[in-house]
Amino acid sequence: MANGTAVTVSGARTGTVGGSIPFGGTILSMERLNAFSIDREARIASVGAGVILADLQKAADAEGLFYPPDPTEWSCQIGGNIATNASGSRSFKYGATRNYVQEIRVVLATGEFLTLRRGEAIATDGFVNVVTENGREIAVRVPTYERPDVRKNVSGYFNADELDAIDLFIGSEGTLGVIVEAKLALLKKPEGFFSGIVFFPRENDLLSFVNEARTASRKQAETNGNARMDAALIEYFDRNSLSLISERFPETPSGMAGAIFFEQETTPATEDALLEAWNALLEKHNAAQETSWFTTNEQDLAKMREFRHALPVTVNERVVRNKQKKIGTDMAVPDAKFESFLRFYENILDASGIEYVIFGHIGDGHLHANLLPKTEEEATRSRHIYGRCVAQAIMLGGCVSAEHGIGKLKRHYLAAMKGERYLNEMAEVKRALDPKGILGRGNVFAESYLAA
Ligand SMILES: Cc1cc2nc3c(=O)[nH]c(=O)nc-3n(C[C@H](O)[C@H](O)[C@H](O)COP(=O)(O)OP(=O)(O)OC[C@H]3O[C@@H](n4cnc5c(N)ncnc54)[C@H](O)[C@@H]3O)c2cc1C
Repeated sequence: MANGTAVTVSGARTGTVGGSIPFGGTILSMERLNAFSIDREARIASVGAGVILADLQKAADAEGLFYPPDPTEWSCQIGGNIATNASGSRSFKYGATRNYVQEIRVVLATGEFLTLRRGEAIATDGFVNVVTENGREIAVRVPTYERPDVRKNVSGYFNADELDAIDLFIGSEGTLGVIVEAKLALLKKPEGFFSGIVFFPRENDLLSFVNEARTASRKQAETNGNARMDAALIEYFDRNSLSLISERFPETPSGMAGAIFFEQETTPATEDALLEAWNALLEKHNAAQETSWFTTNEQDLAKMREFRHALPVTVNERVVRNKQKKIGTDMAVPDAKFESFLRFYENILDASGIEYVIFGHIGDGHLHANLLPKTEEEATRSRHIYGRCVAQAIMLGGCVSAEHGIGKLKRHYLAAMKGERYLNEMAEVKRALDPKGILGRGNVFAESYLAA
């Protein structure tokens, strides 16, 4: 790197926006940095960047601990998760990867090492200063954009008035430094859980159920304990998702408007009351309880997670079979605009006649609409529809990427969301840390922004 060769960091390449695809230069594989250890007492995992998420999850579980980030696809690497600030279904209760990263060791584009511990380098007067391991101080100007009022957002570099330097690197998509090691906070494994995949004959009932479950769960988080319901995840499948998924899970009931997958943690003391509370809410909102699935055992829960994972996998297979590319949205809008954005999706997609599914993290007000074009003509129209969805999300005060990142595929949309001024502010951050612009070339913004 120190000789100025462009370097693109490759994790497990599960990212969906082309971030680890090189635009020239060298690819740096992290897969051999796969050693890790767990300090059970301190509840800290010390990991190499190439550790596979599934391996860490398994080892934490064996110690009676729990690493909450769950980006559905567990074959990704921890370094990739940090570089994309991965989130997923359980982010509803636990937040994204950022919340668990206590320390990172980074190699800068200059070849210098930098260790950042949470709380040690905080911005003042619009600048955050970092000091490399060989003693060089680098002052980075904090971007001044306002962050949209959404629960998840990975559209461009993170900023805050009192920005912690570690947070600048989390979610920077391989453009500011190569993350080689990290220390991650772990939690105590929940004692028990109650989970369900619940089907609804009517969409309005499903949405009012989600509203009430979400509000009750957030109250729990705010009051730290007294309210009863406290979902760890609330996930959505629209009617088309159910029909697609029934190819793999024929037991899926037909004729339903949609389904919700939820998970509630329990203890022996709370289990009965929680089961009752969820059942009462489901009944109130007319869920088809007799055809729905519920469990309190790990084996069935694994099957429910498989059901959830099967959807994006089936979508990917379908588009490959169609010899087309998937067009998938990843925007989020403020809570108050969520229903109107869902209607926008449904109206524009129904009118298109193109096969589609809508699914995802409804607890966080963040859904994926995936278009599955069958012909070139449908693919072209799908891209236009995608553009209209981006415009609508921006107009509603949302963001263009809630969890997948910008990579190379979505940078035009980031430009539409942020505008020239703020892209230039991000480029200034990049130039301070990577003066020759060699890391993650083409990710987040076009190289033209990097000319000094
Ligand atoms: C079926 C499916 C479902 C998914 N669902 C979700 C979801 O619910 N939520 C979610 O957040 N994501 C989801 N993803 C996306 C993906 O799993 C994440 O983006 C993942 O965090 C990327 O990790 P990776 O190791 O595969 O990184 P890669 O894809 O290899 O790289 C991603 C980016 O990070 C950079 N990078 C990788 N490692 C490092 C490092 N050590 N240092 C610096 N930069 C690095 C790369 O240059 C690239 O820009 C899903 C993907 C699939 C295939």
